[in-house]
Amino acid sequence: DDVRLAVERMLEKRSLSYVDGPIPIPIDDPFLVENVQRICVCDTVKWFPIHDSEMYEFVGIVDEWVKNHDILLFWQVKPVVQVFQLSEEGPCEELSGDGQLSSFNEWILPAKEFDGMWESLIYESGLKQRLLHYAASALMFAEKGVNPFLVSWNRIVLLHGPPGTGKTSLCKALAQKLSIRFSSRYPQCQLVEVNAHSLFSKWFSESGKLVAKLFQKIQEMVEEENNLVFVLIDEVESLAAARKAALSGSEPSDSIRVVNALLTQMDKLKSSPNVIILTTSNITAAIDIAFVDRADIKAYVGPPTLQARYEILRSCLQELIRTGIISNFQDCDQSMLPNFSILKEKLSNPDIQEADRSQHFYKQLLEAAEACEGLSGRSLRKLPFLAHAALANPYGCDPSKFLLTVIDTARKERSEL
Ligand code: ADP
Repeated sequence: DDVRLAVERMLEKRSLSYVDGPIPIPIDDPFLVENVQRICVCDTVKWFPIHDSEMYEFVGIVDEWVKNHDILLFWQVKPVVQVFQLSEEGPCEELSGDGQLSSFNEWILPAKEFDGMWESLIYESGLKQRLLHYAASALMFAEKGVNPFLVSWNRIVLLHGPPGTGKTSLCKALAQKLSIRFSSRYPQCQLVEVNAHSLFSKWFSESGKLVAKLFQKIQEMVEEENNLVFVLIDEVESLAAARKAALSGSEPSDSIRVVNALLTQMDKLKSSPNVIILTTSNITAAIDIAFVDRADIKAYVGPPTLQARYEILRSCLQELIRTGIISNFQDCDQSMLPNFSILKEKLSNPDIQEADRSQHFYKQLLEAAEACEGLSGRSLRKLPFLAHAALANPYGCDPSKFLLTVIDTARKERSEL
C-alpha cells in the first residue's frame, strides 16, 4: 500500500504525458528509488472505472487520446496503480507415475518467466483486451455470487488456430496479468500447466490415475479461497483424438475413460469461483464437441497481419539496437522506430520532413514485414536471429544490409513452408 500511494502521488505531481511503456523513477524520491524497480503504463483508457456521470468526460478523453497518437495526458485521468512482486521460484515440475514424462508444471504468479510476455504478443482487433475483459467479468460474476442457474457462464477459455501463433504464451500472459490485477482479492495465485499428451502416456492404465491425482491437487489449491488458480491445458485436441481412436477400436478403451474423467473433473471445478481453465488447440475441427461446448469464449488466433508483422519485427530490431548488435546508424536517429500508424502517416504525407536514410530504412522495414506474409509469430521472432547468422560480417552490422538479409531469409523460410 505504501508503494502504491507513493506511485499515485508521484503520478499526480507530473504534468508530463506518456505512451504505454516505462516511466522513469524520479531520482529525487528516495522511497521510490529504494522500493520500486520499474513503473509501466499499460492498458490505457479501457480500464478506467466508468460511472454514468463520468461517461461524457471519458469519451472526450478517448478521442483526445487517439488524436494524440496514443499519448495519455495524466492530468486528465486517475491512473489505477497495481503493485506486484515477481516470484523467482521457477516451475515446480511433477513427474508422472513412470517417472519419465512430466504431467504438469506449476508456477506461482506473477512469475519472473512471464514478465513482459503480454506486451510482446501482438494481435489486432482487440483480442487481448477481449480476453482480459472476459476473464475479469467471469471472476466478478463468481465473486459476487451470481446464481449459475439464472445466469450461466463458465470460466473456460479456448484459443484455437495454427501452431506458433502465440496461443500458449497468450494463456500464460493472461494468467500473469490477471494475477496482478486481482491481487487485492486473491493474494495468492498459481498456474498449473497440464501436458495433455503426457496424460495419454502409453501406460494407459496409469493415465486415469494421473488425471485423478492432478485434479486432486488442483482441488486442494482451489479450496483455499484466497487462491486464484489457472489451469492451462495445451493441445486439447489430443483428448478428442484419443476418444475417437478408442471408439474406432484402435486404442484401448482406457483412453476414453481418461477423457471422460477429465471432462467430469472440469465440470466439478466449475463450481469453484476462483478457477479459470485456459485451453489451446492447433486444430478446431478435431476438438471433442463435448469439450468445445464447455468453453465460453472461443477465440481464433490467426497468423499475424501486416501490421502485427511490422510491429513484431520492429520490436525485434529495437531489441537488437538496444543491445548494440545493430549499430552504425549514420546521420539519422533510428533508436526509436515509428509504430505502424505513424509510419503510414509518414509515408503518405510528403510534408513530413525526414532524413532520406531514415525514410529508406522505414520503407525497408515495411517491405520486410510484407515479405513475411504467411509466417507465424514464432517464425517471425526467430527471423532476425537467422538473418544475423547469415550475415557475412556479423560485427557492427549495417542496419540497411541487415534488413535486406531479413527479407532474403523470410523468402527462404516461406519457400520451405
Ligand atoms: P502456439 O501455442 O500457438 O503454438 P506459442 O505460444 O508456443 O504458440 O508461441 C511461440 C512464440 O512465438 C511466442 O512465445 C512468441 O515469442 C512468438 N509469437 C507467436 N505469435 C506471436 C504474436 N502474435 N506476436 C508476438 N509474438 C508471437
